[in-house]
Amino acid sequence: MNKIRFSALEELSKHTPVQNTAPYYPSDLFGCDVLTLDKMQHYLSREAYKRLKEIMDEGGAIDRTLADQVAAAMKTWALGKGVTHYTHWFHPLNGATAEKHDGFIDLQPNGDICENFDGRMLVQQEPDASSFPNGGIRNTFEARGYTAWDPGSPAFINNGTLCIPTVFVAYTGEALDYKTPLIKALTFIDKAATDICQYFDKDVRRVIATLGWEQEYFLVDEALFNARPDLKLCGRTLMGHSAAKDQQLEDHYFGAIPERVNTFMDELEYTCHRLGIPVKTRHNEVAPNQFELAPIFEEANLAVDHNQLLMSTMKRIARHHHFRVLLHEKPYKGINGSGKHNNWSLLTDTGVNLLSPGKNPKSNMQFLIFLVCTTKAVLEHEALFKACIVSLGNERRLGGDEAPPVIMSVFLGQQLDAILNEIEQKVSNRKMSPDEKTELKLNVGKIPEIMRDNTDRNRTSPFAFTGNRFEFRAVGSSANCGAAMIVLNTAVAEQLTVFKQETDTLIEQGVKKDEAIFQVLRQYIMACKVIRFEGNGYSKEWREEAARRGLSTGNSCIESLRAYLSPKSRELFTKYGIFSEQELEARFEIKNEIYLKKLQIESRVLGDLALNHILPTAIHYQNTLINNVQGLKDILPGEYESISKVQLKAIREISAHIQAICTLVDEMTEARKQANNNIAGIVERAEAYSVHVLPYLDTIRYHIDKLELLVDDDIWPLPKYRELLFCK
Ligand code: ADP
Ligand code: MG
Repeated sequence: MNKIRFSALEELSKHTPVQNTAPYYPSDLFGCDVLTLDKMQHYLSREAYKRLKEIMDEGGAIDRTLADQVAAAMKTWALGKGVTHYTHWFHPLNGATAEKHDGFIDLQPNGDICENFDGRMLVQQEPDASSFPNGGIRNTFEARGYTAWDPGSPAFINNGTLCIPTVFVAYTGEALDYKTPLIKALTFIDKAATDICQYFDKDVRRVIATLGWEQEYFLVDEALFNARPDLKLCGRTLMGHSAAKDQQLEDHYFGAIPERVNTFMDELEYTCHRLGIPVKTRHNEVAPNQFELAPIFEEANLAVDHNQLLMSTMKRIARHHHFRVLLHEKPYKGINGSGKHNNWSLLTDTGVNLLSPGKNPKSNMQFLIFLVCTTKAVLEHEALFKACIVSLGNERRLGGDEAPPVIMSVFLGQQLDAILNEIEQKVSNRKMSPDEKTELKLNVGKIPEIMRDNTDRNRTSPFAFTGNRFEFRAVGSSANCGAAMIVLNTAVAEQLTVFKQETDTLIEQGVKKDEAIFQVLRQYIMACKVIRFEGNGYSKEWREEAARRGLSTGNSCIESLRAYLSPKSRELFTKYGIFSEQELEARFEIKNEIYLKKLQIESRVLGDLALNHILPTAIHYQNTLINNVQGLKDILPGEYESISKVQLKAIREISAHIQAICTLVDEMTEARKQANNNIAGIVERAEAYSVHVLPYLDTIRYHIDKLELLVDDDIWPLPKYRELLFCK
């Protein structure tokens, strides 16, 4: 019997659910570990508070005096809660969160110890940028980067440390994180959307983007996880035959949550609520051991921070319950992968959701502008929308097992489709008659009634309108939402800006405002037919149709990433100051580098496991069979051939798989060597890996999975799918 696998299975039966939290009212402790602006008021002078609030609402720089006061406030609050350390908390481009802890402890001139934290420490910390992905933005003399507080995201206490959300930039000024360009994109869309709102309501001063992410994940028992080197090192199973039963019966989705999982969720939510993350919904997902967590939506920058914080918190809390969280997009072959649906909308400071149909024709016209411009933005930059969500993991998820397809399209729903068609038919470049106008306005005014019955929600669309928001579903479960939010907000902001210019030009030519709006909308509606798709996104026909429409249909992550550097994307980002050319190129290189490194690790781990775990086991079992046949031959020489047919067949099959695995592993190693030794550029090497190394992961796996079915269960070294996928 295999020691590792079976002792892991034994462990499993010992676990009892641990209830770590007493019952509580979320409203009592929500945000108790967050230093909100409201709390800050108690520690700041009236002027300082006023100035800080202005900066938070409208942006602006924090001067040294204010920084000193804010720092003192943070220190007093944190010390009062028994906190001894602080850290600048940021999102480097490796997708993780980073922190470097410093104690408040300091020496006074007289040698006494004191607690110190001043404006200088709040505003700037200097981590070594060369240890984070920087895509070549670094010369040997200046490896430093610096982090600076983002007042848009409040400080919080996590794990006993005061965490200060910060941006992370190179000493030469280039962004090395997601937050810096995200804030720029959000400022851009604020301006562009506010300008449009001015057509309808002069009181609107500010528009924020809202984001509500839905986080899917898998849980796996800790002991089983530890017995699977592939899960430990790559976050996914590189081998494993599918279980006889997994999700066919669809009995997991929304099913009763297992007790141990429930106690994990309780503690996770409790911790989230303390951290001010408004998590609200939890349920089983489609695949066994797959779950989902969703919060109430928030301002996008804060929501991105909260998602990053959630992912690290999940991993920490899961250990208290002897679980490991798998955030990989496709941990198991053949069953659903995990995504992170990004629900997105725009909200005015007067409280209007710009993607929600209103009560009258006027507000519905505004709604239609935002709806159509968002759709047009996806059309204009469809390749870039894809580039911002692809990764090695997501490449395995997209296009299979209920995941959105790799092709970008926008789903609006039948009713809206009909309204758009009507505008297309009724409006033209000539002046409308009063009757036509009245009819159109009447119909536009009816949108809310229509939307109320709009229940068709196309699950196969990567970008769907769902009543009062768009849902970008193609985002990967382990991704930083920032990447998708930067592209979405920048592209829509650009489209709104262009829309405004085109409409204003018509108005200047003497066309009435309403008619000018409808005329420009009509052109967009016609153009958007290319990206609008209401049918089944999983179907083969759609793939063919999309190719005919000229949409990017390729599956390859490496190819898709190139859209970051297309002339169109370069212009989009540089024109509006979201990325400089250099930042864009660096980001592109980093994405390739991450792909390359992850694939290299997967390939090595698979090679090791194949040679050190699987082959010896297969040979061992084959020897057992050989001994058996030999024994039969010894005692029943006349009939052994006819009574050992099964064994002989298995011996031959095992031999064939062993040979195939050895040959393929050799070839894969050689392919890696070729790429490593002969290709200097990271981007080119990533491409070589994706073309020449990646296919081996599936071919080698095929033979291993066949062996899993042949070899005696008692000696199989790795926990099987049926064991990994069902929690107790
Ligand atoms: P479903 O699984 O049906 O898509 P969920 O309730 O799981 O729905 O998730 C919906 C998500 O959409 C939640 O995170 C919610 O906060 C978010 N959401 C709702 N309205 C908005 C909005 N106006 N802007 C951004 N996100 C929103
Ligand atoms: Mg959803």
